[in-house]
Amino acid sequence: MQHSHIRNFSIIAHIDHGKSTLSDRLIQVCGGLTNREMAEQVLDSMDLERERGITIKAQSVTLNYTAKNGETYQLNFIDTPGHVDFSYEVSRSLKACEGALLVVDAGQGVEAQTLANCYTAFDMDLEVVPILNKIDLPQAEPDRVAEEIEDIVGIDAIDAVRCSAKTGIGVEDVLEEIVKRIPPPVGDRDKPLKALIVDSWFDNYQGVVSLVRIMEGELNAKEKIQIMSNGQTHQVDKIGIFTPKQTETGVLRAGEVGYIIAGIKDIQGAPVGDTITTAKNPAKEMLTGFKKVKPQVYAGVFPVSSDDYEDFRDALSKLSLNDASLFYEPESSAALGFGFRIGFLGMLHMEIVQERLEREYDLDLITTAPTVIYEVLTTKGETITVDSPSKLPAVNDIEEIREPIVEANILVPQEYLGNVITLCVEKRGTQTNMGYHGNQVALTYELPMAEVVLDFFDRLKSTSRGFASLDYNFKRFHGSDMVRVDILINGEKVDALAIITHRENSQGRGRELVEKLRELIPRQMFDIAIQAAIGNHVIARSTVKQMRKNVIAKCYGGDVSRKKKLLQKQKEGKKRMKQVGNVELPQDAFLAVLKVG
Ligand code: GDP
Ligand code: MG
Repeated sequence: MQHSHIRNFSIIAHIDHGKSTLSDRLIQVCGGLTNREMAEQVLDSMDLERERGITIKAQSVTLNYTAKNGETYQLNFIDTPGHVDFSYEVSRSLKACEGALLVVDAGQGVEAQTLANCYTAFDMDLEVVPILNKIDLPQAEPDRVAEEIEDIVGIDAIDAVRCSAKTGIGVEDVLEEIVKRIPPPVGDRDKPLKALIVDSWFDNYQGVVSLVRIMEGELNAKEKIQIMSNGQTHQVDKIGIFTPKQTETGVLRAGEVGYIIAGIKDIQGAPVGDTITTAKNPAKEMLTGFKKVKPQVYAGVFPVSSDDYEDFRDALSKLSLNDASLFYEPESSAALGFGFRIGFLGMLHMEIVQERLEREYDLDLITTAPTVIYEVLTTKGETITVDSPSKLPAVNDIEEIREPIVEANILVPQEYLGNVITLCVEKRGTQTNMGYHGNQVALTYELPMAEVVLDFFDRLKSTSRGFASLDYNFKRFHGSDMVRVDILINGEKVDALAIITHRENSQGRGRELVEKLRELIPRQMFDIAIQAAIGNHVIARSTVKQMRKNVIAKCYGGDVSRKKKLLQKQKEGKKRMKQVGNVELPQDAFLAVLKVG
């Protein structure tokens, strides 16, 4: 396809504003799939995404659209995730595009992620095309929301296309707008090949599949390619586009987006952000790749059965190809054995990674409480980075602990402003800015990251009936009075249960944690003492009393099926038990810290 007839775009929006629905609708209108194939939302293809109703991975689709001017255009679009944990994936997708549709729910208005994603698009000089979605809803106020977009985002929106991705009204107008407003790609097709790897994933049958945007030159099937970062060469096997079905075209040219399969078995062989060129006529310079993302929270993840360690390592390395934000290194715990310390972008990312590992790789895992990264100045004058409570030096060796502070941007309707401010104060926040935009208030707070990554998002949502929205970025490290609270079970320190917390909260946290553990640890044949301590100083204690009767004995003479059920239940419970000393701890115990505070 000629440059002039190609449009590469992403759809950006706050979560739930209708990106995926609109994407599906565009595919349907352009005839990419039959109605039966459309029955299921095609883009959210991972099981997990469909269940949770969110988009995790960026996906691409190539469509042919015959516009009102009679010309046929090739539209390549890349769906992007909307959750705050995945803004990294958004900037990655945008790199392959010349424009972005900014989808805003006409009933909800502008939210924090709308803004955050929009600024990323501006930074990359993309044409941002506003779309007012969900105009079929009775509560839709497209005029008010258009004004809000102008006021908060700062782009013209009065003439924004109004549509309903659900009913299909206005969807043709969206397509026309894409053709009219988004600039065609540039890029010389006669120059040596430069293809940006936007995404790579491992397919059990095909090996590594890479989604690429050709920036310069062209690539044909059977050509020999070179991965520029490591110099490895491979023979291209298959090359083509997603319609959204994988469809071979045999060639991709500058300006186009598609996939390459080159028999790459080594899963680190085609890293995301890398540049592909041809071995025969290589480009001289690589494209600028993607900004490396730094994980925000770390947790220890351990296989329930130590036999699964090798499988676990293998799964992580496959998953990390598909999820470049995933960081991991081996860790061993006295309580949990051998596992990995894994870095995550946020709590949702952590849940999703654990679920993907368990589902896609059939592993049973135990995750410890997440920790942010601390900078510790030792009395020897060294600065070390601590991503786990067990790595915190002894109290006497610490000069200062610095915790990460984020800048949080919150958008909230005026009626909930008071609640949100109260929450921010409770979470040790400092207000740095506040501005009114119609009925919305834009707040900027500096908050300790540790407070934000745990339950802040959920609390913000519940205190504002779902209306407040949040976006945050790491700002700096700041000296704080942090302490490690150790948990002792029958006098034995359980490394995997330790937490780092602000001294002010340590007493309360310790007490709540001990209480929560008492509820979670099942009774055993002896008393179990649970203590929280800072250094040698015990700050809270509780006891799980020994079992009084044999539970099974109760059923004797009674109903056999009931007894069987009871045994079955105990067996299932066992699956996620971990023996620590002579005490059996359930998986929940290791995450108890998430349920307190
Ligand atoms: P995403 O998170 O931005 O991908 O949002 P989804 O496409 O998953 O949509 C979120 C919810 O809004 C779903 O329940 C959709 O059915 C619904 N939705 C999307 N577009 C429309 C629309 O135009 N009208 C109405 N009434 N609902 C919509
Ligand atoms: Mg979606």
